[in-house]
Amino acid sequence: MMDNKTKLTREQFDKVMVPNYAPAAVIPVRGQGSRVWDQNEREYIDFAGGIAVNCLGHCHPALVGALTEQSQKLWHLSNVMTNEPALALATALVEHTFADKVYFANSGAEANEAALKLARRYASDKFGPEKDEIIAFNQGFHGRTFFTVSVGGQAAYSDGFGPKPEAITHLPYNDIAALEQTVSDRTCAIMLEPLQGEGGIITAHPEFLAAVRRLADKHNALVIFDEVQTGVGRTGALYAYMNTDMVPDILTTAKALGGGFPIAAMLTREDIAAHLKVGTHGSTYGGNPLACAVGNAVMSVVNTPAVLDGVRQREQLFRQGLEKINAKYDVFSEVRGKGLLLGAVLNERYQGRSRDFLQAAVAQGLMCLVAGTNVVRFTPSLVIPMEDITEGLMRFERAVAKVTKA
Ligand SMILES: *Cc1c(COP(=O)(O)O)cnc(C)c1O
Repeated sequence: MMDNKTKLTREQFDKVMVPNYAPAAVIPVRGQGSRVWDQNEREYIDFAGGIAVNCLGHCHPALVGALTEQSQKLWHLSNVMTNEPALALATALVEHTFADKVYFANSGAEANEAALKLARRYASDKFGPEKDEIIAFNQGFHGRTFFTVSVGGQAAYSDGFGPKPEAITHLPYNDIAALEQTVSDRTCAIMLEPLQGEGGIITAHPEFLAAVRRLADKHNALVIFDEVQTGVGRTGALYAYMNTDMVPDILTTAKALGGGFPIAAMLTREDIAAHLKVGTHGSTYGGNPLACAVGNAVMSVVNTPAVLDGVRQREQLFRQGLEKINAKYDVFSEVRGKGLLLGAVLNERYQGRSRDFLQAAVAQGLMCLVAGTNVVRFTPSLVIPMEDITEGLMRFERAVAKVTKA
């Protein structure tokens, strides 16, 4: 495909790219389902799914079909006009969730930026400008724009860029007492992930979620669920809130919504949405026909009992396989998470070494992820073939054997 003269190498990255990433040594060039091949035709099993994005694997025929068909009709208009794919996708999202209204964006951070601006505007319109406090949680992750990274719970990501947006309070996740002491009439929103992804695969306790809802209601604050990573079938329900007893006021979704094509959405109720009046917020690309056509195809494949039940079956296979590896090598203290958002937590002997496991996995032909320095994270395609899970776990076992022997 590529002759030697034009062969692009990993070294080129260091020459021409801003050094904010440290990509692996290999360069993948194509994928099919849950298998990927690099420039040297070496095959990898994909347990990473582009960080919980490729929910139907690589080049799923339904997505290739939707993208190909729409690419020959209409790519982009801007929001001066609406378009059929956007109307269809918004209708599907409203039909299948608590929401009445949809705002489209292009990334998780942008959907969260819209959610935060809406919460502030709603509180200001309804209760006055002094109701501005956003409560969020340590280790939470909401994206990399300056507002979202400031609401996120890792100072390392938001420090060093000058003055931050104000009135943001961080609390320990799952700490009901801290929340009770902090929420007040000044609080305009409580923002959280129902299951922290980047922060280490940590599930919100049901009692904590109940306290979030109760305290928010008591003080007229909105609950924003960041479902950028947990949404679109990842936990075995269309959205993770559907497996809890609480309904948020605003929900954001991205990552898997486009199955690899950039698209995001913010969902909310009508009475809240009314505060994003004409001109208050916007995006050039948000809701473009190409992205929405793919989003429609994703929704129609994922939001079916076959795929959602399949997520729970695959979770069992992963858990059993990881337990077996652990029985042999004693590397994990637990396997946590839900559906196909799973974290194998390293025990005391391997603290701080999640990257070593990831790199050993790549060497064995397996792509996985980390969530911090102590958790190996798995977010494969929701329809990954069972035999790919078995083969991938065999490769992972070989990687574990290498790390533990070293
Ligand atoms: C990935 C992620 C984001 C950021 O999404 P981008 O598309 O990278 O902007 C926000 N919130 C959560 C929970 C995420 O996992």
